[in-house]
Amino acid sequence: MTNSYSYLLEHNVKPSLQRMAIMKYLLTHKNHPTADDMYNELSKAMPTLSRTTVYNTLKILSENRACLTLTLDEKNVHYDGDTSLHAHLLCKGCMKIIDIPLNEVSLSVSESSDFVVDSIEVSYYGYCSKCQKKKIREQ
Ligand SMILES: [Zn+2]
Ligand SMILES: [Zn+2]
Repeated sequence: MTNSYSYLLEHNVKPSLQRMAIMKYLLTHKNHPTADDMYNELSKAMPTLSRTTVYNTLKILSENRACLTLTLDEKNVHYDGDTSLHAHLLCKGCMKIIDIPLNEVSLSVSESSDFVVDSIEVSYYGYCSKCQKKKIREQ
């Protein structure tokens, strides 16, 4: 497992206990949590953690590309500890965010132009298999 201390250093973020806890959470939870999800979970073990610290830390992590800020769900901002190039599927039924690999077409932009791509946000909207079944049952 990736060590959150060295991970923060690699991204030029000064490690503090709280930052390490937030980074570790993001690296071990691939379900694209919101700031509130992280606050609710982490404050159980860290009662001194404030919501503001969580928000500020996520901003720093995102600015230093240690995590991704996802805005595909217009109601909630989600965070992703996986900064490798990938696309997201958002289920409009359960609001679940699913990772999918980006296809070759989107990645070839770097090769076909002199533009250097350092981040890509590709989102698809629809319904996951569970919600499709639910929709059929409701009809
Ligand atoms: Zn769904
Ligand atoms: Zn993702």
